[in-house]
Amino acid sequence: MTILILLGQNLTRIPNHMKKLYLGISAAFMLSATPLFAQKKPAKPDPLKQEIQQTIDARFADMTQLSDQIWSFEETAFHESQSAEALAAYAEKLGFKVTKGVGEIPTAFVAEYGSGSPIIGIMGEFDALPGLSQNKVPFKSPLHEDAPGHGCGHNLFGVASLSAAGAIKDLIAEGKLKGTIRFYGTPAEEKYFGKLWMIRAGLMDDVDVMMDWHPGAETKTDVQKGLALVDFIVEFSGQAAHASADPWNGRSASDALELYTTGINYYREHIKPTVRIHYHIQDGGQVVNVVPDYSRIWVRVRDSSREGMTPVWKQVEKMASGAAIMANVDYKVTLVSGIHEILVNRTGSAVMQKNLETLGSISYTEEEQVFAKKIQEATGKPQIGVVSVIEPMEETQEHSMGGSTDVGDVSWVVPTIRMSATTAPNGTPWHSWAVVASGGMSIGHKGMGYAAKALAMTMADLYQDETLRSEIKAEFKEKKGDYVYKGIIPDGPPPLKVNY
Ligand SMILES: [Zn+2]
Repeated sequence: MTILILLGQNLTRIPNHMKKLYLGISAAFMLSATPLFAQKKPAKPDPLKQEIQQTIDARFADMTQLSDQIWSFEETAFHESQSAEALAAYAEKLGFKVTKGVGEIPTAFVAEYGSGSPIIGIMGEFDALPGLSQNKVPFKSPLHEDAPGHGCGHNLFGVASLSAAGAIKDLIAEGKLKGTIRFYGTPAEEKYFGKLWMIRAGLMDDVDVMMDWHPGAETKTDVQKGLALVDFIVEFSGQAAHASADPWNGRSASDALELYTTGINYYREHIKPTVRIHYHIQDGGQVVNVVPDYSRIWVRVRDSSREGMTPVWKQVEKMASGAAIMANVDYKVTLVSGIHEILVNRTGSAVMQKNLETLGSISYTEEEQVFAKKIQEATGKPQIGVVSVIEPMEETQEHSMGGSTDVGDVSWVVPTIRMSATTAPNGTPWHSWAVVASGGMSIGHKGMGYAAKALAMTMADLYQDETLRSEIKAEFKEKKGDYVYKGIIPDGPPPLKVNY
């Protein structure tokens, strides 16, 4: 039956002459009394995994309501009080013991059930992005002017992970699995990176394996490393003066800022193609007739590994002193936060892959395809609709590109398994209104339900197979080597009150 299944899923991507061949073979197969190939017995459905799917299906209406609620709260990093409260309340309703305000962050929490070994963790995010408020329509239409929106789909993220944990909790309660399930409500992924303070508080030290997913435009096991990054603020301080009457009394902080960014942009020629440098000018002076005595810029350096990122970071930091000398002003550099690239665990990922293949692709209604195509039209993308095909697991790239996540840090502390579920039409820009729109309607909801099932099914494998857990840990230890994890954050509490 393999070929028929293959045809059903992948026909569009098979060259025409091959299609004819496959169609011929399958037609012969269907007509022939003697099968052309030995029939493989279908794997017996796993009763625990069936129960997991039934549990998620039964709770799907609650999950949708909760994710829509978080979607409408539109709360950004460290301000996610209503979102965290709603998730924590649902965790308590499911029977978890909840500890709030962990890692010195009021919106961070841990929900736990069960006892003893193994301890399987799963993470859920719930923060929104500034300026992306959007209605549930396939064209740009802010719900609230200048308000945040869930442009990364984190409204779905936290709910799916918590629901997966809930399905495992039920199996532990019924005596069908043994051990502890722990959900981590992890705030501020989009800015500051809340997980780093949760790690520093030792909250993840005893976890055997950690689970993670992310909303996306594809459904797959995620085996790419992403990028390490560092964020820092550079401030220049000079002397204000009348810009025309006595400019010789002035020392311009905005001159320093311009010289600094000019230096950074010349430097780009001499860095490796894997490096990314971004900056955001946050203060360049207030009015035209005053020599600005203050300026501020947020700088971010990324690379595919910490080793590559660190020398560039140190050089870009040093360049601030050069700009300050030229403009005759003072300068200050403040480290905000930074994250590690992901330590991929392929042993664990292979288990996730099997579960994705068991679940198969997400199917969509005609109405959802129309919605998806309208989004693709509005964002200038090919109107192919929303597709969720399960491809074979990818090779892990030595230098993967894309974004960064504070899950990277977690993956250096505990072996971490990751996946992506389709929650938005393929090809549409991420961190955009299109993701907010899809995440607030059924395309996003379906991806959330799918992720909850895949994560819980994979966790069921982890609980039941001690050898598998040992193999996952062995790969983690081997890849980590002698490296002793140290978070790229300053000493002291997280920047809850500072709005950089
Ligand atoms: Zn995200």
